Amino acid sequence: MYFHPVEDPDTGQIGYLLADVTEQKAVVIDLPPRSTELLRALLAERRLTLTHVLRTHIHPGVPMNCAALSALTGAVLVLPEGGPVPSGCAVRVQTARDGGHVVFGQQVMQVLATPGHTAHCVSYLWRDRLFCGDVFDLGSCADAGEDADPGLMFDTLSGRLFQLPGSTLLFPAHPLGGRRVALVGEQRQPHRSAADRQPRRLHHRNAVPTHGRPAARAPLVRHPAALIHITPTRSPLMKKSFAALALAALSSAAFADKQPVTVILSSESGMTQGMAMVLANQMQEQGGQVDILLCDKAGDLALKGAGGTPLKPKDVTPAQLLDAAMKKGATASVCAIYLPNTGHKPDMLKDGIAPAKPDAMGRALMEANRKVVAF
Ligand SMILES: [Zn+2]
Repeated sequence: MYFHPVEDPDTGQIGYLLADVTEQKAVVIDLPPRSTELLRALLAERRLTLTHVLRTHIHPGVPMNCAALSALTGAVLVLPEGGPVPSGCAVRVQTARDGGHVVFGQQVMQVLATPGHTAHCVSYLWRDRLFCGDVFDLGSCADAGEDADPGLMFDTLSGRLFQLPGSTLLFPAHPLGGRRVALVGEQRQPHRSAADRQPRRLHHRNAVPTHGRPAARAPLVRHPAALIHITPTRSPLMKKSFAALALAALSSAAFADKQPVTVILSSESGMTQGMAMVLANQMQEQGGQVDILLCDKAGDLALKGAGGTPLKPKDVTPAQLLDAAMKKGATASVCAIYLPNTGHKPDMLKDGIAPAKPDAMGRALMEANRKVVAF
């Protein structure tokens, strides 16, 4: 996978380029103005084909480069259902509908309706990352521009985004206070009134009446007709993409009721590490959302090129089992004191692994329904 934020230094807007490097298919989300040439250079550098140009939202009357970019590259323009379409738009437009999917190569992104900042905002969930446009102002109240509806915003935060696992990474369309990424669990704090309450109104198609009981979140994936699938008809990848979709539908349906589990691993024993990672894989496979916290000698599993002794009977190392669990959707982090006390640098950690934030981790460990297993 290839993941590259594209930031406009003048406006501070941030877009995101994601690519399946195996199949050389890429998508871009909310590309900032005047970034087209940079994007084309990034695509050319890795011989990537842009398949989709995605927007989380469009403000009526504000000029957008998305239609031009789509026309230039032949990529399909994906716009929120019911929202405005850029004027003079002459390209193929697909609707991003709540519960739908965008497929590029073997990667699948899920569409979540997240209105509030505008009436038709959507966010795109890819693995443990949510590209949420202007829904959040990191560390403060959510933006309330002139197109905003605070009631819808409240419902989006309480009924949708704060129902995601606390370890979900939020990538906004602009930084705040110099920050460019946050955790859902961490954002519950400044938005506590929304985090602590049930949705005030039920505007999401997937929302279900709670009648005062804790909200049971309805599956985000529904009928296949809701899917956006834009692989060309003749593509030999079609079968594979449908397989990916089916897989996504299954995993996303399960996601609605996933049991959060934190696996804390600090043992230096290869066999204990192996057992912990085998169980982490099993829990992830059996419908859990496993968040792995590595510390002490076990923190070394998070390093790029981590070795270790293969364990019988399958001759796999604990580090390989960690990789397998992450491929299945588990998250992993090293404890906050690991890097300072080992002399290792952040860029020595495997992609997708970062130091844990003690406050967010502490909050996650106290979640009422979370299981915590330590090895
Ligand atoms: Zn906006």
